[in-house]
Amino acid sequence: MKCPHCLESFHDFYEVIPVGNDADGNWGVVSRKCPSCERVVLVLVNGKIGSIGGRSMLESVKGERLIYPRTPSRIPLPKEVPEEFAEVYKEACTVLADSPKASSAISRRCLQHLLKEMANVKPSKLADEIQEVIDNGNLPPYIVEAIDAVRKIGNYTAHPIKSERPGEVVDIEPGEADWNLDVLEALFNYYFVQPATIKRKREILNLKLKEADKKGMKKG
Ligand SMILES: [Zn+2]
Repeated sequence: MKCPHCLESFHDFYEVIPVGNDADGNWGVVSRKCPSCERVVLVLVNGKIGSIGGRSMLESVKGERLIYPRTPSRIPLPKEVPEEFAEVYKEACTVLADSPKASSAISRRCLQHLLKEMANVKPSKLADEIQEVIDNGNLPPYIVEAIDAVRKIGNYTAHPIKSERPGEVVDIEPGEADWNLDVLEALFNYYFVQPATIKRKREILNLKLKEADKKGMKKG
């Protein structure tokens, strides 16, 4: 699994602690320890818990829910990202563990808003808006690939509602919710962070040039 603390992947060795039984079957807490960050990851599972050689084992899982950490880590957003986007992005991250479907609906809306504001695409279906921004040819190839993969991974052809009404909570494909967030991060970086960094560096360069100029004048 991918560690929700440090985001490193590790081998899936686990321990199950049975915590009760009811009409839904056995309940247990699955505990794993990440060898990279040495933090514990706890998942509440419901299903059938058996025992082999005195050790509890999961035989089948009906449902599971990450309980610690509360939500998987995402890299904190840089301060350059405007609040109107940062707030929505954070919401999509917060609900990710409980409802990847809801998270995807929020991130699709956020993507649509971002493309409208920053790439000036004509309001349309999300798939068409993505196509328009790709056709405009202003984006670097790595961003084009990433944004194109949003509709491919999301299989928009099979699920047209995602494109027609991006904010609707509908079935998603494996990995889709995380991918949407990854793409938003890349776009935030491209639209807000990189320009701000270059601007800061240019200001520093201008100061240095002015300084050099002054010195030059004195000498002359
Ligand atoms: Zn870790």
